[in-house]
Order: sequence, then C-alpha cells, then structure tokens
Amino acid sequence: MKEIYRGKAKTLYEGEKDTAVMVFRDELTAGDGAKRAEKREKGSINAEISAVLMQLLERHGIKTHFISFQPPNRHVVKRLRILPVEVIVRNIATGSLVRRYPFEEGRKLEPPVVEFCLKSDEYHDPMLNEDIALALGLVESVEELREMRRIALEVNRVLREFLREKGIVLVDFKLEFGYDAEGNLLVGDEITPDTCRFWDASTGEVMDKDRFRRDMGEVIEYYREVRRRVCGG
Ligand code: UDP
Repeated sequence: MKEIYRGKAKTLYEGEKDTAVMVFRDELTAGDGAKRAEKREKGSINAEISAVLMQLLERHGIKTHFISFQPPNRHVVKRLRILPVEVIVRNIATGSLVRRYPFEEGRKLEPPVVEFCLKSDEYHDPMLNEDIALALGLVESVEELREMRRIALEVNRVLREFLREKGIVLVDFKLEFGYDAEGNLLVGDEITPDTCRFWDASTGEVMDKDRFRRDMGEVIEYYREVRRRVCGG
C-alpha cells in the first residue's frame, strides 16, 4: 500500500477510489511528540473503540469518514482534505485549560466550552479565533468554523450520553474535520483514549492518555477497560 501520511500514532495509506486505509499503531506520544513510547496492543484497542464510536455518531446522523473496521487495527475511511484545525470540546475544566486560565480543576463547564487550535507541533497548537483562522487561510469563511462548532457540540451530546451509560465521564475530547470529494464536511481522525479524557464515573479514575502523560502507569490496562465498556465483551 502506498503511504499518504504518517502521523504520531497512525499511518494513512492509499485505498481504492476515494478511500484510504488508516492503520492505528502502538506508539503513544505526549507533549507535541516530545515524549514517546510503544505499548503493545494500543493500536488495536484504539481502532476498535474508534470504530464503535464513529458508528455511533453515524447512527445519530453525524457524518464521519468511517467506512469499515478491518480488525485488528485498520479503518477503511473516506479520503478527506483534512483541515489543520483541532476542535476541542470540554465538559470539565482540566489539562491545558486550567494551566492557561483561572479555572478551578474539575469545575463543570455548562454549557460546554469549544476551542479551536491550529494543528501544529512546531507552534504547540496555539488557540485560534475566527480572524486568525481566516487570515491563515485555514478556512474560507467563518461559517465553516460555526458548522464545525455545531457538529462538535452534537458529537459531545451523543458521546456523553452513550458513555454515561457505560460508567464513563466524558471530560473533554478533540475532533478533526475534513472535506470529502463531494465537498461534505465530515468528522475525521479518531475518537479514542488518546484523544479524549475519560474518567470512571464512580471512582474518578483516569482511563485515558493522561495515564501516560502523567506517568500514572497501567496505561494499556485502562485502555482495555474502556474497550470492554464501549465495545462490550
Ligand atoms: N487533545 C488531542 N490532541 C492534541 C491536544 C489535545 O487529542 O493535540 C485532546 C486531549 O487528549 C484532551 C483534550 O484534547 O482530551 C483537551 O486537551 P488539553 O488542551 O487539555 O491538552 P493537554 O492538557 O493535554 O495539553
């Protein structure tokens, strides 16, 4: 397969027609790639979790790039022109939000807070506003940003409700968007413990990549537990 793009945790290969094959690798990175490790099984766990969550969104009428899951660690996806924008939705203040602003750790954010960042390790993903996104040519109109915001909040509602039933609190998450060949704006990338914060609803335990970022140990054990709850079995 011809490689199109190699990211920090996934590799994208050319697929048939307007599709691509996304391979979830076992690498974990944090701090814009400064900290790295390889954890066996991580790729397949994330591929399975993301497949279930992308299909959940589709069932709720949210368009994504997901076409099919090829176990153990591949997704066939629609090929997108990905926007270099990270859309973050937060239900609880933690992480960079409390480092940058005077929010109390763990404070509930109602309504949820949406943040746009430039996807750039070199510039450490700086926050965008509408003018900067337009001036950088990331989008052609502010309506595109508003549409991403609308979809991101809808994704938040669907995921939150689903995860709540599994005993998982959706603290925050990151989405990426792109345009398909017909010009539809779709949710791309992945939805996994690498890109979301998940807390156990009864114990408050961290079940996501913060275990790696903060050297808390048992990273794969908790990813497996997320998979068990999200995917069943
Ligand atoms: N996130 C991500 N990729 C990034 C930045 C953030 O997937 O490049 C996710 C992260 O996993 C978390 C949410 O977005 O679920 C908010 O992250 P935050 O800005 O608090 O970042 P951090 O504290 O990790 O710097």
